[in-house]
Amino acid sequence: MVFSRRTATRAAIWLSVPLTVLATAIGVGTTLTSAGTVQAASVAIPLPARKPPVPASAANYGIKKKAPTAKQLFGTVKTGAPIAARAVGFYAKGCLAGAKALAVDGPGWQVMRLSRNRNWGHPKLVSLVERLARETTDAKEWPGLLVGDISQPRGGPMVSGHTSHQIGLDADVWLTPMPDRTLTKREREDMSAVSMLAADRVSVNRKVWGEGQEKLIKRAASYPEVERVLVHPALKKALCESPGADPSWLRKVRPVFGHFYHFHIRMRCPANSTSCQAQHAVGEDDGCGKELDQWLKRVAPKPPAPPAQAKKPPAKPAPPRLPKPEMTLADLPDECSTVLKAGGHTPPTEYQKVVDRSKNAAPPKDAAPATTTSLTNNR
Ligand SMILES: [Zn+2]
Repeated sequence: MVFSRRTATRAAIWLSVPLTVLATAIGVGTTLTSAGTVQAASVAIPLPARKPPVPASAANYGIKKKAPTAKQLFGTVKTGAPIAARAVGFYAKGCLAGAKALAVDGPGWQVMRLSRNRNWGHPKLVSLVERLARETTDAKEWPGLLVGDISQPRGGPMVSGHTSHQIGLDADVWLTPMPDRTLTKREREDMSAVSMLAADRVSVNRKVWGEGQEKLIKRAASYPEVERVLVHPALKKALCESPGADPSWLRKVRPVFGHFYHFHIRMRCPANSTSCQAQHAVGEDDGCGKELDQWLKRVAPKPPAPPAQAKKPPAKPAPPRLPKPEMTLADLPDECSTVLKAGGHTPPTEYQKVVDRSKNAAPPKDAAPATTTSLTNNR
């Protein structure tokens, strides 16, 4: 087939192709008159090669590839950022540089759920946990710490379990006493923590809760570097009942949802972490009065709802809620990008599912959706 004069003219009319474009397409041997018609082309010009078929990928339809979320970026890095130690951002929105891993075994502690690789913290927090283990066991107050989650190697949001724990200044310690032997790796995955709650869920079960837990929490709260200790309201109530001679430590013990299998130590921003965003200081009140009563009401089991009336029209179904967009690297402080890539780490570029398969990976049943706001305001 040849590209004749007629074909070219017809093409120009049908396709309304601008003449300059048409001229380019026709190529050598064709000229255009001032009237815009195509002059005779004496040379037969082959058709341009057919364009390759367009692959049906998302990019061709203007759909952006899903970028990895902050959870995926920080949940897949296996080692700490080899730069100066600092907590970056807020407890519930930040990352951690120069983290240290708490040894999985030490004098007076054992780390649980090793598969999670969350025994990394700011070096000052790691020292604090070691100190708590040493001092409580030396004083025979507690048989040893079973340490739960601290942070990921470079902090950041996690795929399961927590809103905070992002900047290496939070540590969970089980309220179950440490056995007097070294647990196997398997046991550290399979063993369950014991709930401290009584059946009424507003008081402690005295069969499992006792002086040991009280002394352990009191000692943790008494360290000046510790800004808060988070426990379930029922545990706070038990602590309020035995404050000891100097009750000043009690104001640091803050009631929260969950936290009846473990308690949570939160350290204040270390002095050299200039981009660490501090939480407001706890008040002078011991929190054992009205505030605790309100919390106990919130966690008390709700009375069963009255049977629905027969003639009542069916409630209009609520419109489906859109899922909250996941935190991305752009939501975290700028410095977290440096922390993520430090030491030549290449983070994944595509969205990939990261799953925590360890036991009890989901948040506890009565855990509230902890938000940055709730963390800053009332805890
Ligand atoms: Zn915690």
